[in-house]
Amino acid sequence: MKTLVIGGGPVGLATALALKHSHASEDIAILEAASRDKQINTDRNIALSLASWRFLSRVGVETDALIAKHGAEIRAVEVTQQNAFGWLQLDAKEIGERMLGAAVPYPHLKSALDDAVVAKKIDVMWDAQATRIDLEGARARVTLAGGEAQVADCVVMADGSKATAESLMPAFRSIERDSGQIAVIAKVQATKPAPNIAYERFTEGGAFALIPRAAGSGAYEWTLVWARRRAEAEHLLALDDASFVSEINHAFGGTMGTLSVVSERSHYPLAWRFVEPRAHGCVAAVGNAAQALHPVAAQGLNLGLRDAHDLAQALSTANGNTALSLQTFARNRAVDRVTTFGFSGALAYGFDRGGWLLDVPRGLGLTALQLLSPLKKELLKRMVL
Ligand SMILES: Cc1cc2nc3c(=O)[nH]c(=O)nc-3n(C[C@H](O)[C@H](O)[C@H](O)COP(=O)(O)OP(=O)(O)OC[C@H]3O[C@@H](n4cnc5c(N)ncnc54)[C@H](O)[C@@H]3O)c2cc1C
Repeated sequence: MKTLVIGGGPVGLATALALKHSHASEDIAILEAASRDKQINTDRNIALSLASWRFLSRVGVETDALIAKHGAEIRAVEVTQQNAFGWLQLDAKEIGERMLGAAVPYPHLKSALDDAVVAKKIDVMWDAQATRIDLEGARARVTLAGGEAQVADCVVMADGSKATAESLMPAFRSIERDSGQIAVIAKVQATKPAPNIAYERFTEGGAFALIPRAAGSGAYEWTLVWARRRAEAEHLLALDDASFVSEINHAFGGTMGTLSVVSERSHYPLAWRFVEPRAHGCVAAVGNAAQALHPVAAQGLNLGLRDAHDLAQALSTANGNTALSLQTFARNRAVDRVTTFGFSGALAYGFDRGGWLLDVPRGLGLTALQLLSPLKKELLKRMVL
């Protein structure tokens, strides 16, 4: 079976590796619009669950070396509320694991995936921008910007959220919603660092997350992702450095002493998007081509990697009927997608403080989870799986 994967981002690369690993397709090519030497210009720190790391390792990515060299392990997550009771600590040790996950800068993750694809001898066509997909019986034809075309038994759209699925194939529809929020992002250090702990905090302004990141020379750093309503985010971005530092310390409290900011601030508009249907004929959408989530819950790529895994599973049991397998894939992915959207939404908006009316039940919920060990273990298992 010949498969074309459109998009050489992390999900496209992982999908190609998973297809190869499961022997679902013997002839796989990745079409990537960018040039081979294009610099990746993002400082994004990607936190992946233990399950995502294990999946990447199984399909051939050198994850241990990547995390050791460029990553930061996340051994516990602490959930708190600003100016209200309620505290929850989720620790990997409670379920017999060393870590719940690890965070790695996007460019390093991408280059480890690129290396794995080369090692597995999967073809990558650079400067190959797909412009159109047409079904031809049980197969599909992909036309490139230069006018040339390729025909395959299966086409995987992994072209991320900058493209719209319907521009490649009108059978697909993107449904988008602007959350009205902007994520303010910065690198921070602390005077009393608690290494390997991630923080999620309900603050008066919105969800406040600190995700560990690797820093050289024995220093510890976190990526701050603070989701705020647009006007508040614009205000935060316009503040002078000292005032911004004072705002984040006020919001976070003294858990790690005093926080300082060690980078420029950046920002990212927060929009939700999902594509329906997930599959049409022998064409399916995965990763950000299928859905884009609010990044405060750090779930987008985790979800995309589960797409890659499930697609390879469905195709490896295809029995020659790709369209039917892709329908099964679409059905199987529905629950995970809705649940992850719900979880990210709860973090994004549930963290948006609503006065004591919400503080009290939220505080009780956090405390109950902290005290009820079986419930907490269940939550921990769900986080790493
Ligand atoms: C600030 C921020 C923080 C985040 N943090 C986390 C986190 O901690 N954990 C997590 O799990 N997720 C996180 N995410 C989400 C994560 O970054 C995305 O889910 C992930 O990058 C999506 O990967 P992808 O391969 O689907 O898409 P992309 O990374 O967008 O890759 C798409 C690729 O397709 C190529 N392409 C596009 N159009 C075409 C075409 N027509 N033809 C050929 N090629 C094409 C592009 O050049 C690109 O290489 C975060 C997102 C943001 C914005």
